[in-house]
Amino acid sequence: ASRAAALEPTAEPAEAAIRFDLVAGGIDHRINRLIDEMTLDEKIGQLVQLYPEGDQLTDELRARIRGGLIGSVFFAGEASLAEDAQREASASRLGIPLIIARDVVHGFRTIMPIPLGQAATWNPELVRDAARLSALEAKAEGVDWTFAPMVDVCRDPRWGRVAETLGEDPRLASDLAAAMVDGFQLERDGKIHGVAACVKHFAAYGLSEGGRDYNRVSLSEYDLFNTYLPPFRAALDAGCLGLMTTFSEVNGVPGTAHDDLINGVAKGAWRFDGVVVSDWASVTEMVNHGFVPDNRAAARAAVNAGVDMDMCSPAYADHLKGLVAEGQVSERRIDDAVRRVLRMKVALQGGATGQPAPTAESRQAARRLARQSMVLLKNKGVLPLDEESLATVAVIGPMADKPVDQLGCWSLDADAEHSITPLAHLRKRLEGQAEVVYAAGAESSFAKSDDGIMAALAAARQADAVLLFVGEEVVLSGEARSRAELSLPGVQPRLVEEMAALDKPIVMVVMAGRPLAIEREAEAVDAVLYAWHPGSMAGPAIADLLFGVHVPSGRLPITFPRSVGQVPLYYARHNTGRPAPEDYAPLVGSGAEDLPQEFQYRSHYVDKPPTPLYPFGFGLSYTTFEYDSIELSHNELPPSGVLGVRARLTNTGDREAAEIAQLYLRDRVASVVRPVRQLHDHRRVTLKPGESVVLEFAVAADELGFVNNQRDHVIEPGEFDVWVGGDSNATLHAEFRLLEGEGPSAEVA
Ligand code: BGC
Repeated sequence: ASRAAALEPTAEPAEAAIRFDLVAGGIDHRINRLIDEMTLDEKIGQLVQLYPEGDQLTDELRARIRGGLIGSVFFAGEASLAEDAQREASASRLGIPLIIARDVVHGFRTIMPIPLGQAATWNPELVRDAARLSALEAKAEGVDWTFAPMVDVCRDPRWGRVAETLGEDPRLASDLAAAMVDGFQLERDGKIHGVAACVKHFAAYGLSEGGRDYNRVSLSEYDLFNTYLPPFRAALDAGCLGLMTTFSEVNGVPGTAHDDLINGVAKGAWRFDGVVVSDWASVTEMVNHGFVPDNRAAARAAVNAGVDMDMCSPAYADHLKGLVAEGQVSERRIDDAVRRVLRMKVALQGGATGQPAPTAESRQAARRLARQSMVLLKNKGVLPLDEESLATVAVIGPMADKPVDQLGCWSLDADAEHSITPLAHLRKRLEGQAEVVYAAGAESSFAKSDDGIMAALAAARQADAVLLFVGEEVVLSGEARSRAELSLPGVQPRLVEEMAALDKPIVMVVMAGRPLAIEREAEAVDAVLYAWHPGSMAGPAIADLLFGVHVPSGRLPITFPRSVGQVPLYYARHNTGRPAPEDYAPLVGSGAEDLPQEFQYRSHYVDKPPTPLYPFGFGLSYTTFEYDSIELSHNELPPSGVLGVRARLTNTGDREAAEIAQLYLRDRVASVVRPVRQLHDHRRVTLKPGESVVLEFAVAADELGFVNNQRDHVIEPGEFDVWVGGDSNATLHAEFRLLEGEGPSAEVA
């Protein structure tokens, strides 16, 4: 009896009672109790996020964590470091765990296609699953929070970060962003079984002037609300727990002090109750913007504008306490920020444990996703290759055997030794069946020397078919990797030209992080497969398509220009006062002075057609599809109604294959000029040869609205066009009228 009594605590020690894992009650109650116990230093500590210097847990950082003065640290490559840091945190007075953060953007150990490639799948289910598997791999090594998805709408392929985006269209980006959030977080009953997500970069970072990273951003309210903000809204509505501000200014105010966007829109109108984090040192960068005189003013501006956590700048740690003492920042505001951080920490407790990489499941998913991401842009009857009839295959080009570069940007934690390159895979796959001859032709995509071209020609001459792997290495793609040219870099155009002059089937596979202006090269070769940066399983995925084991089904999530000078070029353009010269294309090259009079004063270039090389939504298949018999449920749609759109889709070729059916709308006349068409919905359908299906889409009247220049969401009656088809040039058309009257606007406002 005395032993049992000895084990029973006489009085609960105060510290134990309020430790993070011991406070009882509902979430809000627990968080409030903790906040009551915290000193101001401890509170501010929760708002500080750091990268372990030199990838090490230095004594200084260790001491700060143990002192309860750090809220989050980056994962710096090693699970052991993350564990060590968490041990220090649990030894702190209140035992509040750290959030271990990392850019798990398109994979962790197993790398999936870059986000722009994932967008080309138009397949939310697969994208969700890829995020799920990446989250589980990261979680298994201690990661809690990923800085993804990146949802910056981008219409400028010069920007290196276009690789990280989900393309040019707000609808497609919204659908995929929501799927990613779902996949990353795996939230059930308020618990995160994957990793918390963080949608970024709020807002309009994709509009960096001239496609140059870290440049000015200036745009109309109309574009901001109708084009750039909707994917953020979609991610937050999907339950995303984090939101990252942009480095850029947005119309003169840095994103990191944008009270109107953060407090007004995200936390206000959208009721976001998660964590707003700055981008890397973007708090102190506001000094360089010329927006604040010093770091102290930067801390004040950011925290008061609603930035809860300071990523990798000293501003919050150095200045918040003084600012509170002076009354320049309220303790209420600090408590609100801390509450948000603690809520994320609570949600992260007790979830599933993850799934250490590499798993067969992740690799299979990476292969499937890569396959669906690739877009067949041209095929003059050479694809699929007949494996049986090939005795010798030439594998040529600087991208054929680049295990790291095929992964693309943000492959920080990749298992690059498990990357399968096209060359490695083809050698294995064709072993004992066909000979593979290989010549890179150039050391790198950007090498200027033509020394390798002779050897590449010699190799190609022996072959029955030439597989030409060109594109861009990762050094040309991603953050701070903007390009002023969109041509294939280096000596590659020459390499393509020389290969094309041989009398052989030439298949060009482009591996790149952005749309490249490949008009001449595409013209010269027999087939073009656009593979983006496909990730770990590039080789097998490409071969699956080239040999016809699977049929290409990717569709462009971004317009491909003919030349850099056409940028920005996007399908959802606006008409101007002059009719669009769509029929101008055949007149190109004739020079301004030769143009027929009616073309002279239209919006165009005199030296290039205004049309893209490949439109948004475009992609070929090994079969053909036809759309017909469009029918609408209403000719006149009441303002609270739902329009049904039906159209028949038929596989008119001889291969079973998937098609991405797309529905576009146009509001013909509005109080603010609307785009000539806008993607409204899309559906992936697999059909057998000869098979037909009746597609059914629904368009609710309240989805026909837009945000006007007064920031009101308005639904204006009038005439609308509908198109259904396989790309943004879809021609199967119908029209209807939206009637006047009271709509269900409350939900939308
Ligand atoms: C990027 C962010 C990224 C952060 C952390 C910044 O340079 O702009 O997208 O999440 O670094 O790595």
